Amino acid sequence: MDYNSKLRLDGKVALVTGAGQGIGLACAQALAATGADVICTDLDEERAMAAAEHLRTDGHKARGIALNVTDRAALEEMAQAMPALDILVCNAGIVTTRSAAEMPADEWDAVINVNLTGVFRCCQAFGRQMVTAGRGAIVNIGSMSGQIVNTPQPQSHYNASKAGVHQLTRSLAVEWATRGVRVNAVAPTYIATPLLDNVEGGDALVARWKDLTPMARLGEPHEVASAVQFLASDAASLITGSILNVDGGYTCL
Ligand code: NAD
Repeated sequence: MDYNSKLRLDGKVALVTGAGQGIGLACAQALAATGADVICTDLDEERAMAAAEHLRTDGHKARGIALNVTDRAALEEMAQAMPALDILVCNAGIVTTRSAAEMPADEWDAVINVNLTGVFRCCQAFGRQMVTAGRGAIVNIGSMSGQIVNTPQPQSHYNASKAGVHQLTRSLAVEWATRGVRVNAVAPTYIATPLLDNVEGGDALVARWKDLTPMARLGEPHEVASAVQFLASDAASLITGSILNVDGGYTCL
């Protein structure tokens, strides 16, 4: 058995949502570095283009496209206009900090729309093509927030959205298990990305999070990307419906 070649993605086409920065950018880099032709998409068109340019500068195949995961028509149009993807990484996500008692309806809706409904719409539009082609691997970016309740910051909308992503992942995995399409998720701990800028609390909050983590540190985007790369590859050929914790041991406690 050639174990090294099972991890390679040569000749495969991958699409990453929210690839403009943070975990999505690292996923795009990991997939490209192991041979995939990567479509970097993001709500922010400049970021999508810059991500693709960055990969090309490193000698990889990549293109950038603006894509809002809440725009169902755009997703369907893009999926219909291209051959079936080999790999889809549903990464785009947002967070705010708000107690449930004070949460405006539009803030709840925005987080659910991007983090949960956006993942479903992407899986539906691109997964349908994969099922027709009889092959594909989807990796959704969930969160440990889908399994634990973060403290001390209140974020019920985010936690609920990520629990939904995990159960959606398992549901699609079972639906498509005999159709050649694997569906998995990763569940990261706190990762040092611009997303954390939207969580109020600063250094004191980060210190508290480290206290709660057995490895006593935040994660780096590349550490999540390596897990995604593995799940997207043939090295994970028997793995579907899994939620892989990438959390420094946080959920053990
Ligand atoms: P980030 O804010 O650094 O990057 C997110 C990217 O998604 C941005 O480029 C943004 O423009 C894009 N985006 C936002 N809304 C979009 C939309 N509607 N359509 C398309 N693109 C959109 O975030 P990150 O920290 O890299 O997080 C990426 C994913 O990882 C999210 O799903 C997040 O919930 C998850 N996650 C993050 C952490 C963490 O601590 N950073 C932990 C667990 C899970």
